Amino acid sequence: MDNKNEDRPHAKRSGWLKNDNPPGDLAKVRRCHAKTRLGGSCKAPAMKNGRCRMHGGKSTGPRTPEGIEKIRASHFKHGEYTKRAREERRQIRALIKSLGDTISEIDESAGLSVSIKQ
Ligand SMILES: [Zn+2]
Repeated sequence: MDNKNEDRPHAKRSGWLKNDNPPGDLAKVRRCHAKTRLGGSCKAPAMKNGRCRMHGGKSTGPRTPEGIEKIRASHFKHGEYTKRAREERRQIRALIKSLGDTISEIDESAGLSVSIKQ
């Protein structure tokens, strides 16, 4: 190992790190400042998005059409509340109501008292 500071071992070092990461002073980096459970602010170094590795923030959701479709498919359970199913139920209710009305009209015209209405 080549140590350039052999004569001054405690002198401030400069240059690239041994692991090839860029040099920098951790005391000067931007901080996360997320609110902590103790009420203070997080002091971990911030990433590009302004938060640290532990407070990266919530997902902003799928962006691509494929991603949106994947999320939509994962939320689909049984189709009970799809537009098509609700419209079908609405039509069935309307049909039952019109049948009840028709039976009532027949009863009145024939003088009968039979009815399907509760
Ligand atoms: Zn943080």
